[in-house]
Amino acid sequence: MRELVVLGTASQVPTRTRNHNGYLLRWDGEGLLFDPGEGTQRQMIHAGVSASQITRICLTHVHGDHCFGLPGVLSRMVLDGVQHPVDLHFPASGGEVVRALVSLASPGLDLRLHPHSGPGQIAPGLEVRPLRHRIETFGYRLVEPEGRTLLPGRLAAAGIAGPDIARLQREGNLGGVRLEDVSVPRPGQSFAFVMDTAECSGAEELADGVDLLVAESTFSNDDAGLAARYLHLTAGQAGALASAAGAGTLVLTHFSSRYGDVGALAKQAVTRSGGAAVVAAQDLDRIPLPGRQRDYGSPGGVWPPGGPTSVDEDVDPGAVVGVKQDQEQHEVEQQVDGHDVGQ
Ligand SMILES: [Zn+2]
Repeated sequence: MRELVVLGTASQVPTRTRNHNGYLLRWDGEGLLFDPGEGTQRQMIHAGVSASQITRICLTHVHGDHCFGLPGVLSRMVLDGVQHPVDLHFPASGGEVVRALVSLASPGLDLRLHPHSGPGQIAPGLEVRPLRHRIETFGYRLVEPEGRTLLPGRLAAAGIAGPDIARLQREGNLGGVRLEDVSVPRPGQSFAFVMDTAECSGAEELADGVDLLVAESTFSNDDAGLAARYLHLTAGQAGALASAAGAGTLVLTHFSSRYGDVGALAKQAVTRSGGAAVVAAQDLDRIPLPGRQRDYGSPGGVWPPGGPTSVDEDVDPGAVVGVKQDQEQHEVEQQVDGHDVGQ
């Protein structure tokens, strides 16, 4: 299961229809909560998301609309008896605010603080890049490890069928047939979260080639002066970011409360988004991960054999492995039925 659950889409001021920020990325057995603003706990209830689904929390910066929901969410996790460790990532310069917010939460959660102060990998598959905002801000990028797409024709020619396919995936070699002889490389699925920034190289690096790009779109093109002044993106700039990056789907969010209808912003983004699909997020939207951008001809792709499939197998290995195996089996069946392509 990979999807983005949108918990809130308002920037500084919430509205009747838009809660402050909040996004849960469900990624196999992981649940990555991004930028929980005020009211996130209640939005989770509306969205049908449980506190126990959260395994990792990622803050872009410590402006209130991106982190004031933290004490409530953490307290709720304690109340619900969450036993697994939870990793909390944030810019090091916001440490004082983060520690204050965490100190307000009920004790009892195995919460692990991970400040970062520069670009790079902060967990397996999870990277940060600095953005350009009024205080230190980092965006996030999540990339699945590269896998391989099986080629049914070559499998058949090699006489490999049924359970042997899974065994070959697992072991990499079966009776002299190597996995690479019957498959081609397949880049991993990817996601980027670009929040509260003016145009900058960090945003471009995060967005590069991702399947799903969540980007702030605080202002209309007509208010480009405000965007420049407060270091935010216009809808058109968000579209241009997606286009330049070759992103698959652009999710616009973090709207200023001055826009009752964000349809005009979506149109402005579409004008510049190139091949990227554009979604103007509404609270409680569920957005599935689109197919891989750089796949080798297999819509939806095929699960990678063996190898890690999630950024955080160390957090809850049982759950992650369980999901992976189910999907592997499912996809093997698909290939045997001849529905998969890749040749
Ligand atoms: Zn904000």
